[in-house]
Amino acid sequence: MQKKRLYINGKWIDSQHHSLLLSPYTREEIAEVPRATVEEVEFAIKAAYETRNKMADMPKHQRAKILEQLACKLEQRSEEAARIIALEASKPIKDARIEVARTIQTYKFSSEEAKRINGETISMDAAPGGEGKIAFTTREPLGVIGAITPFNFPMNLVAHKVGPALASGNTIVLKPASQTPLSAYFLAELLHDTDLPAGAFNVVSGSGAVIGDKLVQDERVKKISFTGSPEVGIGIRNKARLKHVTLELGSNSALIVDGNVDVDKIIDRCVTGAFSFQGQVCISLQRIYVHGNVYDLFVERFIKAAKSLRVGDPLDPNTNVSALIHPNEVSRTLDWIKEAEQRGAVLAAGGTRQGNILMPTVLLEVDPSAKVSCQEVFAPVVLINKVSSIEEAIDCVNDSDYGLQAGIYTENIHHAMLASKKLQVGGVLINDIPTYRVDHMPYGGVKDSGVGREGIKYAIQEMTEQKLIIINSMV
Ligand code: NAP
Repeated sequence: MQKKRLYINGKWIDSQHHSLLLSPYTREEIAEVPRATVEEVEFAIKAAYETRNKMADMPKHQRAKILEQLACKLEQRSEEAARIIALEASKPIKDARIEVARTIQTYKFSSEEAKRINGETISMDAAPGGEGKIAFTTREPLGVIGAITPFNFPMNLVAHKVGPALASGNTIVLKPASQTPLSAYFLAELLHDTDLPAGAFNVVSGSGAVIGDKLVQDERVKKISFTGSPEVGIGIRNKARLKHVTLELGSNSALIVDGNVDVDKIIDRCVTGAFSFQGQVCISLQRIYVHGNVYDLFVERFIKAAKSLRVGDPLDPNTNVSALIHPNEVSRTLDWIKEAEQRGAVLAAGGTRQGNILMPTVLLEVDPSAKVSCQEVFAPVVLINKVSSIEEAIDCVNDSDYGLQAGIYTENIHHAMLASKKLQVGGVLINDIPTYRVDHMPYGGVKDSGVGREGIKYAIQEMTEQKLIIINSMV
């Protein structure tokens, strides 16, 4: 069994304490992982802090080259990377391979964006008193970024913080999710072999509360970039005082299917959106509102497709759905399904467990107050409710504390435009599911789904400070 070490100041450091990492699928021990103490986190912050000027002064083409080297190394070891994700997260290997391919893209985009961090010129003489003044802005790195990441995309969501941070001349202390630290230590291995200065990237695994509190409260850490659950994210925001904070949080994403849609064309996509990585995706398709004209057909086809999904070992290339991240999550979701049934929902598929796998579950006629509707399920569970108009469907989607992305399938341009205007989310997908992201698009939510945007260019904006320079040409 492998024993991991902390990665601090360009060195592998033995930690005082370790935890056993178990496979979510087999519950077998797969690694011994450092559980960093506050002193060890202090050491990582100090390293990042002392390296900040070196990174800030590094020419952009050099930062770009380091990220290019990283993308290249990951490409060379992509199968190994995918197997790490499958092992520690129980992500089906075909989805893990897609995540690695996207991570390579994220680092390539970061490398390209490093060269495009520009300011603007300001026409000062547009205001009386501005005569003879020339002004322009630059963007300066913040310094040390504290990155806290979730288990569900352990490589690509780490890349969404590490890529833009290094591209914009910051240094980083990364705290990966306790269930998925191996991907982060793998990244450290790759970065160790690039031209990145020691101290610019540090990994400390261990307790979220212990490491998180230290990162959030330390004055030298200028920004927290957090992806995870709303509960933890809101706690961080409350403690962060004037620190910059980006929060990428959860959702109960919804889709509208209009009455004029060819159901057979969209079923496979909807099933993928609902059950990919066992529904443990922040934009997983959780609620579907279907117009009465096509409701019965949609439900029949959807259930048939859901029942045909292959469940099993994440390392089997034919597996579609594997174990949830922890057995407690299976029990919690089964309780939520029971609660929905008690409130009148009809269980149309699934609702049972096979070991640590929850069978793909479809619920019909779900009351909006049921947890599977109004909270984030984060499991392979989807509800399908009937609606009689586009206005009713939009109201149902908006009846949520969350607002990450939403989708609408329709042949009617007026309905598409109404939905794009009225849906209270960070991104509207017309004729697609909400479970869609490419890595350079602006991505983030409204309401309890978070604050700020990721997508390399947008994350760079949030990891840099604007500075204004005014030249008086009349002296
Ligand atoms: P989580 O429990 O909130 O954990 C996220 C990270 O926060 C982990 O590294 C965790 O460490 C750490 N943490 C826990 N307690 C903390 C504290 N008190 N202070 C600071 N950090 C703390 O979330 P998760 O279960 O890993 O991920 C699932 C959630 O992430 C879902 O809600 C999902 O929707 C959301 N998500 C959002 C996006 C997006 O882009 N909007 C993308 C992916 C996931 P430990 O693991 O050690 O507890």
